[in-house]
Amino acid sequence: MRQLEERIRRDGAVLEGQVLKVDTFLNHRLDVKLLTDMGREFARLFAGAGVTKILTVEASGIALACLTAQPMGVDAVFAKKNKTKNMDGAVFKSTVTSYTRGGEYDIVVARYALEPADKVLLIDDFLASGSALLALMDIVRQAGATVAGAGVAIEKAFQDGGALLRARGVRVEALARIAHMDAQRIIFAEE
Ligand code: 5GP
Repeated sequence: MRQLEERIRRDGAVLEGQVLKVDTFLNHRLDVKLLTDMGREFARLFAGAGVTKILTVEASGIALACLTAQPMGVDAVFAKKNKTKNMDGAVFKSTVTSYTRGGEYDIVVARYALEPADKVLLIDDFLASGSALLALMDIVRQAGATVAGAGVAIEKAFQDGGALLRARGVRVEALARIAHMDAQRIIFAEE
């Protein structure tokens, strides 16, 4: 998506450890107009996929998940990173290895939030090693539901998450695919 690529080129900052900072428009200060267009693009790409629910991880995926859910006319669910007391017991649970912070954390979704008949579109801001999306897939599997595909704002195509998911037969759509990045430049993968 040209609009997103241009914004990444203009405002993205490459940090140590191949981390792209997009806090000025994507996951801290939010450019709602851009996010709305991105949500519409996911809705267009997955229009024929029979999606009944969107699933993401808090917190950075929530805005994009909502703005995708709205044009698709479905509910959005976000996995919680900390099991809150009022979710006791009745949860699906999986583990994510954090790319940006290191270490592992659990994500949980209340059992009532997903049903076996659901066709779930996974949404996230980044795809790097694939751990977050694999954990969401695990939760969908536990619910007995089906993964309709995965939509990510930015795929770091030089990492193996995208290949891993596609090899498992998941349809992955990225609005921007970065082939290479360093402090001087960001190169996008060819369409
Ligand atoms: P993965 O699980 O695919 O390794 O990484 C995806 C998750 O890590 C995303 O939910 C995102 O929050 C975070 N992440 C991975 N790479 C980056 C990055 O370059 N920049 C930022 N801001 N977050 C990232």
